[in-house]
Amino acid sequence: MDLRFTAEQDAFRRELQAWFEANRPTAPLDPPYSETGLAQHMEWERRLHAAGYAAPGWPAEVGGLGADAWHQMIYDEEYARFELPERLNKMGLVHGGPTVLAHGTEEQQRRWLPDLLSCERIWCQGFSEPEAGSDLANLRTTARVEGDTLVVNGQKTWTSQGTIAHTMFALVRTDPEAPKHRGLSFVILDLDSPGVEVRPLVQLHGNAGFAEVFFTDVEVPLENVVGPLNDGWRVAQTSLQLERGTGRGTHTRLRMAVEHLTEDVRKLAADDAGALQRLGALRAWTYAYEQATFASTDRIAREVPDDSFSSIIKLRWAEIQTAIHEENLAVLGPAAEIPDWIGDEGELRGMRRTYWHGRAGEIYAGSTEIQRNIVAERLLGLPREPRP
Ligand SMILES: Cc1cc2nc3c(=O)[nH]c(=O)nc-3n(C[C@H](O)[C@H](O)[C@H](O)COP(=O)(O)OP(=O)(O)OC[C@H]3O[C@@H](n4cnc5c(N)ncnc54)[C@H](O)[C@@H]3O)c2cc1C
Repeated sequence: MDLRFTAEQDAFRRELQAWFEANRPTAPLDPPYSETGLAQHMEWERRLHAAGYAAPGWPAEVGGLGADAWHQMIYDEEYARFELPERLNKMGLVHGGPTVLAHGTEEQQRRWLPDLLSCERIWCQGFSEPEAGSDLANLRTTARVEGDTLVVNGQKTWTSQGTIAHTMFALVRTDPEAPKHRGLSFVILDLDSPGVEVRPLVQLHGNAGFAEVFFTDVEVPLENVVGPLNDGWRVAQTSLQLERGTGRGTHTRLRMAVEHLTEDVRKLAADDAGALQRLGALRAWTYAYEQATFASTDRIAREVPDDSFSSIIKLRWAEIQTAIHEENLAVLGPAAEIPDWIGDEGELRGMRRTYWHGRAGEIYAGSTEIQRNIVAERLLGLPREPRP
């Protein structure tokens, strides 16, 4: 569908464009895992927040603009188009905070969300454990109820931004006797609490983008449980659906990536019928993905239940992203081996970084296979494969 925006929506877009143009960082920021990089990102976050552009879709009572789903999509599109820095608090902004908005009490929202929005506290996600990835309900971190306190013991892993985060939204087992999906709770934990140990996981590129987080008798107020006690699986579904959904301008990023690829094919592979055919397919997929994003925004605006729609979205963007990167490598050939390939216009493409990070897109937020299972079982009603 060709979207027609209202005059007011167009004005909002122009306002954003003018502000981004005038305020965007003049040079790429360092990764946030060093003191200088963290300071640069914090400065950018502060600037966004002061202008009211930290999360336009959040309610005004907690510091947002109360903008609707379409305005938020316009914001995500322009943020992506201007290639602005990756948000430091992305997990809090895209899924942690909105889950508290959906299931938390007003008191919880007032207590946690303003600091998240201003980036005074960075949030991370504590779902995965050594024995609980795809099978998330297998998690073993326990939270024993003692009066008005939870006593947490166990371990989380693959905690993105765990080394710089202050707050974790975690799924923990509060009733070990209940069936595995029913004894879980969704809880907000301060990582500076006694008994929390964050061990950085340093990756090949030298950054500690992940951490393992260990809990030994960590005391958390019972009032930090979001939603009812032992109903965390349902609350976590909201968080996962938001994480898998459309909220990051991905359609704009994919469109820009496919435009770059088109330029490269024109320059380097214009006579290669196979490359042209694959490019055509990728352009069609990207267009279809963009349409799915508009459909998703329309559903969010009309408060239609998710119905596995976010799993389709996640499945498609992860696959298209991988395919674009693979085609880029095929077209560029040896040039792709240069770590930060510089194009004709002097632009830095960061090929190796985006290629490798792109591969992870088929794993995080639930792997491609798991999204297929969800679509097959929950949307199409196909029978589950018998488990041994
Ligand atoms: C970049 C990145 C960032 C991450 N950040 C976070 C984070 O911040 N917080 C957090 O909690 N977690 C995070 N994760 C962890 C992520 O959620 C898990 O890696 C993911 O859910 C897969 O779990 P696993 O690694 O244990 O793999 P496994 O579950 O062991 O799966 C291994 C393989 O088996 C396949 N498989 C498993 N079960 C099935 C099945 N039933 N049917 C078909 N195939 C199946 C999977 O698709 C996969 O290919 C991150 C991961 C990555 C890569």
